[in-house]
Amino acid sequence: MKKIAMMTVILLAISFEVSAEKSGESKVRKVALTFDDGPSPIYTPKVLDILKKNDVKVTFFVLGKCVKLFPDVLRRTYAEGHLIGNHTYHHKRMTTISPKEMEMEIRDAEKKIKEVICDGNPNCDFEPPKFMRPPYGAKNAKVKETVKSMGYKLVVWNTSSDDGYIINHKLGFYKIVETIFGAKRRYEEIVLMHDSGGNRTYDVQALPYVIKEYKKRDYQFVTVDEFYK
Ligand SMILES: [Zn+2]
Repeated sequence: MKKIAMMTVILLAISFEVSAEKSGESKVRKVALTFDDGPSPIYTPKVLDILKKNDVKVTFFVLGKCVKLFPDVLRRTYAEGHLIGNHTYHHKRMTTISPKEMEMEIRDAEKKIKEVICDGNPNCDFEPPKFMRPPYGAKNAKVKETVKSMGYKLVVWNTSSDDGYIINHKLGFYKIVETIFGAKRRYEEIVLMHDSGGNRTYDVQALPYVIKEYKKRDYQFVTVDEFYK
C-alpha cells in the first residue's frame, strides 16, 4: 500500500510539472527594484554602492530637474549599468495637466537625460530608454494615451515599500523590509522605493536586507525592460 501511495505522489508531481511547463508558466522569479525622484547627491551614491557590492542592477526613474542639478550622479548610475527611466521634469501630477504639458514634462526630462549622459560627445548614440513612471503613480486614460503616443511604456509597481509613510511616521527602516515581504509574492515583481525627494536614510538602510530576502526566495534581479519584451 505504501508503495502505491508513494507512486501516486510521484506521478502527481510529474504531471503537475508537465502541465506547468505546457502552460508556459515561467518558473523563474524576477524582481525589478525601482528608485524614484533622484538623482540625489546624498542617497543615490549610497544606493549605488550597495547595488555594486551585491551585483544587482535596478531601474532609476529620474527627474529632469534633478538630473540638471546632479549630472555626475546620473552618469555614474548609467556607467554602472542601471536602467534610467523617465519620471518627468518637475514631478507634476499628470492627471492635473494638459496632454501638451505632459508631453513637455516627458520630453524635457528625456532631453536632459540624453544631454547629461552624452556629455558633449557628438558621436554619442545613447537614447534614453522609453520607460516612464508618472509621479505619484497618478494615471488616467489621457495620461496612458499621451505616454503611449510618445513611444513610452508606462511603468507603475505591484509591490510597495510604503517608504513615504514609514519615514513620515518614523517607524524604523526595517518596517520597509517587513512591508515588502509581508506582501503577496508574484513571479514578476516591480518594487517601489525612492532615492530622493526627502530623507531617504531608511531606503538606504533597508536595501541590503531587501536584496538578501529576495535572494533567499530565489528571485533574479532585473531592470523593468525585462517585463516589456
Ligand atoms: Zn516620484
